[in-house]
Amino acid sequence: MSTLGNIADLVAMLSFLGVCIVVLRLPSAHPRVGWSFKIGVTAAASLYLFVSLSNVLEHAALIPVLDAYEDYAELLFVPLCAYVLYSRWTTDQLAAARRAELLIRSEHELLTGVMDTTPTGILVVDGAGAIGFANDLARQILGLDESGQHGQEIPAEARARERLDLARIVAAAPVSKSLEVLERDGDAVYLSVSATPLSLEGPESSGAVLALQDVTDQVMSERELEEYRQGLEAAIDRRTAELLEVNRQLLEANNAKQDFLANMSHELRTPLNAIIGFTDLMLRELPGPLTAEQQRQLEMVKASGAHLLDLVNDVLDLSRIEAGFSAIERANVDLVAQTCGVVESMGALASTRGVALACHAAQPLIAHTDPDKLGQIVRNLVSNAVKFTDRGGVVSVTLALEGDDAVLAVRDTGIGIAPEDQERIFESFQQIDTPDRARPQGTGLGLAIVRDLCELLGYRVTVESAPGHGSTFTVRIPFSG
Ligand code: ADP
Repeated sequence: MSTLGNIADLVAMLSFLGVCIVVLRLPSAHPRVGWSFKIGVTAAASLYLFVSLSNVLEHAALIPVLDAYEDYAELLFVPLCAYVLYSRWTTDQLAAARRAELLIRSEHELLTGVMDTTPTGILVVDGAGAIGFANDLARQILGLDESGQHGQEIPAEARARERLDLARIVAAAPVSKSLEVLERDGDAVYLSVSATPLSLEGPESSGAVLALQDVTDQVMSERELEEYRQGLEAAIDRRTAELLEVNRQLLEANNAKQDFLANMSHELRTPLNAIIGFTDLMLRELPGPLTAEQQRQLEMVKASGAHLLDLVNDVLDLSRIEAGFSAIERANVDLVAQTCGVVESMGALASTRGVALACHAAQPLIAHTDPDKLGQIVRNLVSNAVKFTDRGGVVSVTLALEGDDAVLAVRDTGIGIAPEDQERIFESFQQIDTPDRARPQGTGLGLAIVRDLCELLGYRVTVESAPGHGSTFTVRIPFSG
């Protein structure tokens, strides 16, 4: 029994010695260990090491003298255990606080990193305009001292507040966006500022988060653009005034030309009629007989006189229309009767040229329009159709209803017009070279008169033609026109 007890005490002693060694070897910097825990556990284990040593010595009957201290050691054990438990608890608390601090620090660093790399200047300002936080860009924009620390009093803050009235901006929050101007190195810097209200420490000290963006380049280019636009507008106004002046001069010149043409045509018509009239009398041999040569030459005088009279009449007509002297006299017109009447009156001309001429309509058509001007349009188109159709050809005039328009078409089986000439024939004095000398001479004004009359009456004239296959001139007459 005494040997067993001795072994047990020996084992206990060695165990406590082992515990002391193990605990002392634990890293005291580890958050879950710490010096106080190590000392506490080592002290408690040492006490029992001492007790077991005393027991070993007692059983070995070597040094019973240690027995006297055994009770003290056992007495000390309880407070030591309490100390170990307490130090264990405080170590855990400290470790948790440290973990929390590390987490906060890393989050703060992350937030600061994000703030400093964002392309927007960010300021946290209290209600009095004092800066609580400024990221790198905000510091740069406001010229704050770079050595200042976030969250601390910033040395150049007063200067910044002088430049930018922060208290006013905070008081106005929330504002969608305001444009602020501050001066830096003698230059104006334009800032776009948006303020979001923020409660810093309590409702009484509420401040705002300000987002600043340097928009100087944008403002400058907008200004340049505005100046450029104003310059452009001034140039356009100047140019418009010049053009109006030129236009006025052109109108004046045109009016003078119209007056001249009208007067001259009038002056020419009287002597021309006399020439044609007297030539006619001579050709009828009323003053006396003529030789064959005299007859031939007088025929030429009469033809030239007639052509000149046509020309003068056409010039007079055109100048009257273009000068606005040709008044429209509207009436309810039977389009079929009016058109076919004109066509019929030209039957003799067509038959002398060996061309068949016909006029027909599927139904009666009445329109409110000017009958004389309509007649002149039909006359010009039919005389061209007859003139440019060879012997044996056909000219047909038709009238039909198409939608809201009466459509007058003058078709011929004549020489046709090349596509590239179809537009210019409506201009004054535009004639296409035709090698046929037998064709009667024209004035080059007939289609210009047709175009101007159609414009005046609200009609629309078009041509479809193919060289060698004839032409169709179409006039659309609105019933209201
Ligand atoms: P012109 O007195 O010469 O007939 P217009 O102004 O009436 O003058 O016609 C201009 C030109 O258009 C004519 O010279 C002719 O070349 C061409 N033209 C007009 N109508 C026809 C047609 N029905 N067929 C072929 N060519 C035509």
